[in-house]
Amino acid sequence: MEKRLSGIAISDGVVLARAEVLQSSSVGEVVARDIATEDIERELGRLKRAIALVADDLRNLSERVAERVGSAAAAIFEAQRAIALDPALVTEAERIIRDQLVNAEAAAWQVLREYELRMLEIDNAALRERAADLIEVRRRLLTVLGQISIPTDSPQPSIASDRPPKQRRGDSHPIIIVAEELFPGDTVSFDTNQVVGILTEHGGPASHAAILARALGIPAVTGIPGLLDEVRPGEPVLINGRTGEVIVRPQRETLSLYPGLSRFDPLRIQVVEPIREFSVYANINSIEDMPLTHLAKADGIGLYRTEFEFIIRDRLLNEDEQYDLYVRIVEAMNGKPVCIRILDLGGDKAARFLHLPPEENPVLGYRGARLLLGHPHLLETQARAIARASMAGPVQVLYPMIIDAQQFYTLRELFRQATQDINAGPLAHGPMFEVPSACLAARELLSLADFASIGTNDLIQYTFAVDRNNELVARDYNPQHPILWTMLAQLYQTANEMNKPVSICGELASNRQMIPRLIELGARAVSVSPRLIGQVRLAARSALAIAAKDVLKNQSRIVS
Ligand code: PEP
Ligand code: MG
Repeated sequence: MEKRLSGIAISDGVVLARAEVLQSSSVGEVVARDIATEDIERELGRLKRAIALVADDLRNLSERVAERVGSAAAAIFEAQRAIALDPALVTEAERIIRDQLVNAEAAAWQVLREYELRMLEIDNAALRERAADLIEVRRRLLTVLGQISIPTDSPQPSIASDRPPKQRRGDSHPIIIVAEELFPGDTVSFDTNQVVGILTEHGGPASHAAILARALGIPAVTGIPGLLDEVRPGEPVLINGRTGEVIVRPQRETLSLYPGLSRFDPLRIQVVEPIREFSVYANINSIEDMPLTHLAKADGIGLYRTEFEFIIRDRLLNEDEQYDLYVRIVEAMNGKPVCIRILDLGGDKAARFLHLPPEENPVLGYRGARLLLGHPHLLETQARAIARASMAGPVQVLYPMIIDAQQFYTLRELFRQATQDINAGPLAHGPMFEVPSACLAARELLSLADFASIGTNDLIQYTFAVDRNNELVARDYNPQHPILWTMLAQLYQTANEMNKPVSICGELASNRQMIPRLIELGARAVSVSPRLIGQVRLAARSALAIAAKDVLKNQSRIVS
């Protein structure tokens, strides 16, 4: 029987594969032993040696992750290393060993458990989630201690993984990891050629597992009550990493609602050479998406969602940090255009680090352009970083959630004023068309703009008053609705009359069936996730060929 579960969508993508169920780890268990007074020094020696080994292991892990995923993800292991090397850990554990006459395991467990409990008491979700670091350090330390035999002059243990490498089963079938909770070490050690999705019973949107899953491009859903009771090893599971929906043992009729699934193997990327008449740009969420963008031979970056660089780090980035990211991307694109969207925070992309008051209706609230107008320093800092990066190549600045021409003008002016003293390179400015009022003001807006991009994800949400993240109303979220296509036709007509380039960066553009219709409207550029660039190019190539044949046919009819 098919079973539908739902949780928090933490990493985008839809995937179907068999479940690999991980049994929960025994982090809570510890072998406590009473010791004699003369054993105190021996236990202290074991503890110090274990700490040194764990610290070494975490450094290696951090270096590997820095190479494979990026420095933001590697920082997780640096933070854990700092916990392991905290002098207070040894001091407190030593006191416990001496006072209570217990082994190193029991002392380390007590100290780290105490830290963890203190962290969990703090009324701050971000800090509570960081308690996972303490659990991870505790787990590593206990594992290593278990490998350091007594007496201490026995050969040094090498650190084995403290959980079996579950995903490497000798076969290469795609699998979805199903677990009660994941630790960052588990996530990065996954073989991404085999693991195509992650489901966990516990964990928040800012948990490390979430951050890493996103960086690795694996669809993931967390916070699914009863997950482990519902999924048995080897069962097929469908994950919708956009809506948070999880379908265990999906029926044939359900699968038919996801036509892309059967044809789209998320493990493979189809590389198709660029075509002159139709540009296919990449949507990227962070600098970590660049290798895939290159592989896919993107014509440029059509949407860089810069807010995710902040969200994954859970803090504001200063001008130099932002510049460093932007310039690396612009340089890497080697003269191809890079469209950097200024921060689209708020709504479903909650900026916890801004400590804004809770809102009743955040999607209609303080987000995107409005939030930037309320926090001009955010825009000013970002504008300066972008302007500096534009010295390295052509940059387009995209303004999110614009409601009318006045709002776009005000933000563009703020950008200009903040960057007056900067020697910038080629910079173009354009609004997103993702709010219906902006579409109605298209002519006025485009007259102030160099280009524009259509964000169909939000445009559908706001036009039909349908939450884009709620599976209960997913039926009304219809990218084929004729009213939407009337709006798109009007937008393209205006843009083409005014000779202003307009691309589409919403998900609609990655649906191959939509490409011929978009081309018919006059679209000559779209921006999609790097993995889909090849497929979209193929669709565009055949649509253009058919259109050319039709033109020839019509011409010959006129001549005869
Ligand atoms: C959109 O709304 O279509 C869009 C591309 O922006 P985002 O998905 O980041 O809201
Ligand atoms: Mg949007």
